[in-house]
Amino acid sequence: MQVYHGKSVFGGVAVGKIRVYRKEEKQVRRRSVEDPETEIARFHDALEEAMEQLAGLYDKAVREVGESGASVFEVHRMMLEDEDFTDSVENRIRTERVNAEYAAAATGDDFANMFEAMDDEYMKGRAADIRDISERLLGILTGASRRQEAGDEPVILVAEDLAPSETVQMDKSRILAFVTVRGSLNSHTAILARTMGIPALVGTELGSPENMEKMDGKTAAVDGRSGLFYLEPEGDVLKELEEKRKEYLEKKELLETLKGKETVTRDGRYIRLYANIGNSRDLAAVMQNDAAGIGLFRSEFIYLERDHLPTEDEQYQIYKMVLQTMADRPVIIRTLDIGADKQCSFINMEEEENPAMGLRAIRICLSKPDIFRTQLRALFRAGIFGKLSIMYPMITSVEEVRQIRKIAEEVKRELTEQGLSYADVEQGIMIETPAAAVISDLLAEEVDFFSIGTNDLSQYTLAMDRQNSALDPFFDPRHPAILRLIELTIKNAHEKGIWVGICGELGGDASLTETFLAMGVDELSVSPGRILPIRKTIREMDLRMILTDRSLFTS
Ligand code: PEP
Ligand code: MG
Repeated sequence: MQVYHGKSVFGGVAVGKIRVYRKEEKQVRRRSVEDPETEIARFHDALEEAMEQLAGLYDKAVREVGESGASVFEVHRMMLEDEDFTDSVENRIRTERVNAEYAAAATGDDFANMFEAMDDEYMKGRAADIRDISERLLGILTGASRRQEAGDEPVILVAEDLAPSETVQMDKSRILAFVTVRGSLNSHTAILARTMGIPALVGTELGSPENMEKMDGKTAAVDGRSGLFYLEPEGDVLKELEEKRKEYLEKKELLETLKGKETVTRDGRYIRLYANIGNSRDLAAVMQNDAAGIGLFRSEFIYLERDHLPTEDEQYQIYKMVLQTMADRPVIIRTLDIGADKQCSFINMEEEENPAMGLRAIRICLSKPDIFRTQLRALFRAGIFGKLSIMYPMITSVEEVRQIRKIAEEVKRELTEQGLSYADVEQGIMIETPAAAVISDLLAEEVDFFSIGTNDLSQYTLAMDRQNSALDPFFDPRHPAILRLIELTIKNAHEKGIWVGICGELGGDASLTETFLAMGVDELSVSPGRILPIRKTIREMDLRMILTDRSLFTS
């Protein structure tokens, strides 16, 4: 048995087989072949398998996001049937006498470049689809996709690192736990694991890549409480973990009794306790944990799980479904927040020296207004199906907010002119830069609400990259500077008569709930798994007994 230490992202215990996650091999070697017909037959087999995979993905997507969201897989199937493409691959194999992988990759590149060079925006957008289908074919021909997807048994996923776009696309029902070498507690991959409610460790010292590779298929256990990862655990350790698991389940059961109860302090102060989600699949966890609403829907994951810009209709269907599912419970959808660690290959961005401080979130939306307008149209239109609020991320100035509101007004006017119905919904901003917190008195005049993003507010206030796990020992989320900025923001919001919430990870930290309530926060939005523990904390609290603990603001 070997024991490795990591940093715990989410509690709970998991035992199972390890699957080492490998980034798919993108480099394709050109090989001369003796018998082109054999390669052509391999290509046709791969085509057939790709069609089957796409049919499966289409069915799954219809169930999860509806027909319109699933249509991309239909488009991919049609492309695979297109004779221009398939004839071109076959010709290449025959004339150049090369392997099927190389022919598929080279033809895919040619077609994608051809689409990219077209003037029509729609046709340009098809380049990403061509790349996607050619990667699917390559995955099948090289066996890479089979390696990643083989077996139905749920596994403990071990990886060097996981990008948010990779995490969000995984089939969660087949993952018992995550263990990664890189990643910090505040990274989006960590946040996703928390939202999914599965045991996860980041920053785990797993040795060399060869060492990691050897773990594939072995039995392991993850203790998400203590941050320990056991390779081939021995009998008594397993027994101990089983005990811990029982304890965890018992506590969970106790928390279940809080479902349906109000989130109210003993002295009668009601707090809106909402959930953070990354996609419509998280709705089940929102319902199971009895959240009173959704306080942060990170809409960028709709973009990150695709290989093309989601169309207005695709987005509209997703927002509509989320709003209808939540019925009369409020839903706050944040507009696209990409950049920094969340990169989209199809939104052409220049490489940046320092992306966390670069062109991200609202800055991208304001510099690429077409993308922004499409999302706003979808949001305003979907607004008629429930209680929607729109929230803008990474604000630093009053001018930005005025620019955003002007665009929003134009979008609404356009919808009216086109005879499309929409709802005139609340619009708020995230307070997640020190600049926004400091001028929150001015910003409060421009918007309907604030939501404090403590993840970014902490990284920018402390000048500590939230992605860098080496900074974890220095990173103090209770730093007086952060707490003072939160207090200032709440005070300014209330003075101007708007409500204010917290949607960063600190909102789910029960040791600070008392402090936030004493400051007067109106709403807390946390990962679904934190709803019931925070409800318990609030229901046991009596604010008449509590004054803000000033010592926190000085030490
Ligand atoms: C935050 O910064 O606190 C936040 C909620 O947004 P994200 O974690 O997605 O950057
Ligand atoms: Mg943020």
